Amino acid sequence: MAVTPAAGLPAVRADLALFDGYHSPQVDVAVRLNTNESPFPPPQAWLEALHDGLSAIPFHRYPDRRATALRAALAESHGVAPAQVFAANGSNEALLVLCLAYAGAGRTVAVFEPTYALHSHIARITGADVSVGRRDDDFRLDPAEVDRVLAGRPDITFLCSPNNPTGGAEPRAAVDDVLDRVPGLLVVDEAYGQFAPWSAMELVGDDVPLVVVRTYSKTWSMAAARLGYLVGPASLVAELEKVALPYHLDAVKQVAGRLALRFRSEMEARVATIVEERGRVAAALADLPVDAWPSDANFILFRPRQREGRDVWQGLLERSVLVRDCTAWPALDGCLRVTIGTPDENRSFLAALREVLA
Ligand code: PMP
Repeated sequence: MAVTPAAGLPAVRADLALFDGYHSPQVDVAVRLNTNESPFPPPQAWLEALHDGLSAIPFHRYPDRRATALRAALAESHGVAPAQVFAANGSNEALLVLCLAYAGAGRTVAVFEPTYALHSHIARITGADVSVGRRDDDFRLDPAEVDRVLAGRPDITFLCSPNNPTGGAEPRAAVDDVLDRVPGLLVVDEAYGQFAPWSAMELVGDDVPLVVVRTYSKTWSMAAARLGYLVGPASLVAELEKVALPYHLDAVKQVAGRLALRFRSEMEARVATIVEERGRVAAALADLPVDAWPSDANFILFRPRQREGRDVWQGLLERSVLVRDCTAWPALDGCLRVTIGTPDENRSFLAALREVLA
């Protein structure tokens, strides 16, 4: 959306002038299923441990700039070296720092739409050109299209597995294939990685041009903490450290993230519960006049067959159920995305959807 600068103000950078900001309405509703958060809070025992951890923080001092303890804990959890881990304020900041270091003006970033909107958005903020590939009708990678896009020699190629907003995890063979042929860096965004049958984490190495991005915002039930990280070659991480602002990662989230890893089995139990619920929601959607895509994540993409997606979104909102309106996103005409919530939230969503579609 173009903004007219107030009198006396300079114009924004020309390449940002027609830029559309990030739109995800935060409205007050009873059932919020639009941003793929966990419907469950983190364990009480984690909160108690955090409370103790907070009282040990010397708040008058800057935090550990290298987030040593957090990185060591993350490295141990993934079987990599601490020098291969870079932590940030949400995985979006990890993506931004990555694009600042390896994309930027005069460089190209490749994405395969439909996919997570922030990959191209962040790339453009850094001044990079975006090369857009299309997924096939089932939202899978099309090898011919991958060839076409890689022939443009992108500096960064993004994949997202499981892919937001379509839900499918990339098969290992597809990622291997792109990694074999990628001219620059391959970044696999695994924000929903704990739902997937395999992880590209196992392919990371110091001489492999691969970065895997993870977040605490989804399966770890910590969206409010704004913490994410990436795992990649140590030399790449060293470059990112030059680009990140000094002390960007505050002491509170360093403690919060480190302590969370002690509650892995609770996290895995939440994932299992959500997967079960996802099965119930998918089965209910199958009985309604909508097309829904199979999901390996905590959300389901669907398209009403007989009604405009936008009208259905509005009808749900009028019943105090907020889902994601994807109708204007690339290749997602008429589509909505619903996050899997608690059993009660899912029942409310399905009841509202039945009413709207009746
Ligand atoms: N990657 C993907 C695929 C996502 O869906 C999201 C959140 N919607 C993020 C990254 C960003 O997450 P955060 O910045 O909260 O870590």
